[in-house]
Amino acid sequence: MREKKIKYSFKKKLFWYIVPLILFVSLTFAGVFIQQQNKLLKENLVDRGMSLAVNLARMSELAIFSEEDSFIEPAIEGMWSEDDVVYIFLYKDKGKILSKYTRMRINEKLYADVKQKIYNTREPFWQYPFSSSKVWEFYAPVFSTAEESIEDSLLDVKVEKRGKSKGRIIGISRIGISLININEQQKKIIKLSIRITLTLLIIAFIVTYLLAKKITTPILELAERVEILGRGNFDEEIRIKSSDEIGLLAREFDSMRLKLRKLNKMKDDFVSLVSHELRTPLTSIKGYASIFLSGKLGQLDEKQTEKMEKIVKHSKRLSDLITGLLDLSKMRYGKTDHEGKYFSLGKHVQNIVDELDILAKQKNISLEVEIPSDLPDIYADEKLLTRVFINLIGNAIKFTSEGGKVTIRAVDEQDLTRIYCIDTGMGISAVDLDKIFNEFYRVKNKNGMEKEGTGLGLAIVKHIIEIHQGKIWVKSEVGNGTQFIFTLPNKKEVKYEKKDFSRR
Ligand code: ATP
Ligand code: MG
Repeated sequence: MREKKIKYSFKKKLFWYIVPLILFVSLTFAGVFIQQQNKLLKENLVDRGMSLAVNLARMSELAIFSEEDSFIEPAIEGMWSEDDVVYIFLYKDKGKILSKYTRMRINEKLYADVKQKIYNTREPFWQYPFSSSKVWEFYAPVFSTAEESIEDSLLDVKVEKRGKSKGRIIGISRIGISLININEQQKKIIKLSIRITLTLLIIAFIVTYLLAKKITTPILELAERVEILGRGNFDEEIRIKSSDEIGLLAREFDSMRLKLRKLNKMKDDFVSLVSHELRTPLTSIKGYASIFLSGKLGQLDEKQTEKMEKIVKHSKRLSDLITGLLDLSKMRYGKTDHEGKYFSLGKHVQNIVDELDILAKQKNISLEVEIPSDLPDIYADEKLLTRVFINLIGNAIKFTSEGGKVTIRAVDEQDLTRIYCIDTGMGISAVDLDKIFNEFYRVKNKNGMEKEGTGLGLAIVKHIIEIHQGKIWVKSEVGNGTQFIFTLPNKKEVKYEKKDFSRR
């Protein structure tokens, strides 16, 4: 869930760094590999072609002398059986053909430049005969060991220098080899390279994923713990089983948590001490102001009455705040007195609604209770639950304008009772929804009309529900009213425990 908050996660970044790198490296390797293999294949082809031409030339001496191609036929047949050999020519006197095998249309004449080259170099050679270079051809001179030479007249070329070692040239062998096999093998090599690249990529993906997971899991865990800490739960230990830098960070966070917990406790103690100390003088102020207002100490004029009323109003607000603070402090440290018992929710709510009806009527708001008469009795602390309803219904009336409606509904759901407090009021924006259960949080009113309140009501409500092992949440839309929903377990066995304050 926390991962959703991250726009560019570490995982994604790692992917974007590693995967293109691996892709680049494997493509480069594949390119070099394919090139090397091609070179090797071509070198092999040249070796093979040259040796075929030379062998043929070596075996052809007798056939050329005797002008009888049957002498050479078996050797040529052997070569011809190789499927990439597309033509074989054996030339004799003046470039005349003695033997010819061909699988393709080709100029059978011996080219003058080929003759010239053979007679000049006396060496076999190869060339691409066609522009498409799909066939490479190989030439080799046929030497004669006999004394009399027909060489000079043989292929009507002028011989510049004649090697002595090999004898006279009496013919030329010519072999064409198609690149079909090479192309096939090249295709295979490309396929293999693609397969290797893909496998490397998949491995890179998996490794990156695992690596990222290994790194991010403790970070996310740490973030979660810190978030809990941020919500004010200083009791949850931040422990990450990692002996690396993240483990160190976690330990540092935990020692910070302990310090914060200590500070928080000091703050609570201080607030509760000050609240206690303020309570007595405040009660006196309120009391005396009320006596003045009652006229027992002499009639007050209009201005004095107005000021006295302000004193009463503000001291009431202050005393509400102090009561709220003290209650919260008690709840936080599990010191709230509570006692569960079975009672009828319908009657209970009706009594509260009757009390609050005067408030509702002032604003022409209708209060409706929709609790089925056969709803099983609930098990809760009556006083605490009264505070929950007074606050929720009080809020609903406070934040709903004239002519609105507030509904209290309860539904039995086997293990729990679900209770709704629905109003048709001003609603709460999504930004504020998360925060309204925080102490002192009050939504800022756009039109500047401040409603009375301390901002402690919902924090207390949440504590009370959690003491009962229930849950409370809110749904709202600005302008469309608000729904507070809370649950209470239906079991008597519910033990009121010291609760988790993490969500505050
Ligand atoms: P107190 O309850 O201490 O008198 P309060 O009512 O302002 O003060 P809470 O009950 O904690 O404080 O509520 C917090 C804030 O949540 C309110 O100030 C108000 O902005 C908003 N709020 C609560 N209930 C409603 C509601 N039914 N409709 C609209 N806003 C609400
Ligand atoms: Mg309130």
